[in-house]
Amino acid sequence: MSTQKAAALLSLEGVCKVFGGGRTRVVRAVDHVSLTLQPGKTLGLVGETGSGKSTLGRLAMRLIQPTSGRILFEGQDIASLSDSRMRRVRSRMQMVFQDPYGSLDPRMNIESLIAEPLIVHGVPRSDRRDRVFDAMRRVGLDPAVAHRYPHEFSGGQRQRIGIARAIVLDPALIVLDEPVSALDVSIQAQILNLLAEIQERSGVAYLFIAHDLAVVRHISDRVAVMYLGRIVELGDRDALYARPRHPYTASLLSAVPLPDPRLERGRQRVPLIGEIGSATDVSSGCRFHPRCPRARTMAAKPGADAVVAGNARLPKICVELDPELVDDGHGQACACHFPDDPV
Ligand code: ADP
Repeated sequence: MSTQKAAALLSLEGVCKVFGGGRTRVVRAVDHVSLTLQPGKTLGLVGETGSGKSTLGRLAMRLIQPTSGRILFEGQDIASLSDSRMRRVRSRMQMVFQDPYGSLDPRMNIESLIAEPLIVHGVPRSDRRDRVFDAMRRVGLDPAVAHRYPHEFSGGQRQRIGIARAIVLDPALIVLDEPVSALDVSIQAQILNLLAEIQERSGVAYLFIAHDLAVVRHISDRVAVMYLGRIVELGDRDALYARPRHPYTASLLSAVPLPDPRLERGRQRVPLIGEIGSATDVSSGCRFHPRCPRARTMAAKPGADAVVAGNARLPKICVELDPELVDDGHGQACACHFPDDPV
């Protein structure tokens, strides 16, 4: 464990982020999250809107401060770094957003946009153009278009500009927040392939945020599934997709269409019950219990210790006790009282 920690690029330890308080409602957007990301690897972070993924991404970049917990980047706790030391760290971490148009100043041309991080981090003017052109080539943009403006480009090309900006300083980590969600499916595949190629050549690590499990599958080594501020399942990509242990993961997966129509017709669906709750009034016990199909199955078993909660009979333990994220001994962790029972 300690050697793995020493090698981690990014490691979150018991991180919480609470918004509001005082006269506004308290939102536990991120609640006791621990995870690690190894150099050169991709951690996919998935979950419905409102589960706390963006907040976690912004915490990892220290764009916002955690309420509690430690965030270690290359071994340093970034939550407590001085501004000047944080500046140095910041050049090693970059972010790519869903909407490159919203994050690219429309009055700046492509060259200035991509050069901006170089200027911020004091790269001499004489080196900048070469580095901008190099970054453009790495994302498949012809440097001949460097004098143009973002509105002259398609969505996919604008995302390439956003990625060029993110890689121009050769960072160790890029946090990508829904980077392909606004793009057509065919363009999504191109951008995902591009990101994989960049990673292979440069050894950059990605924290890849998406609501869509199909998107994360292509690119991730490990996947973390988030629900209302908590990681409910975390494991190696292939194991998690082949054998989801948490009923939330199983439900999200069963909503992803299979490419083979015969398999698609034959499979069993695990429907999600109801809507994601709000992080302002999190249920006691397991926060997934109001929607959990497995809890309903378990409560229906003869001799089950069940209670009525909401409009369902559920196991008492699910209603009363918040489950810990427990590893199965093979690196697949799940926060469920019945992790190995059928959904
Ligand atoms: P996701 O990225 O999974 O959609 P977010 O991290 O954006 O989730 O949001 C998680 C929760 O935190 C939501 O309930 C959201 O409304 C709340 N939240 C996010 N940012 C703020 C903020 N600045 N102030 C108050 N609440 C916030």
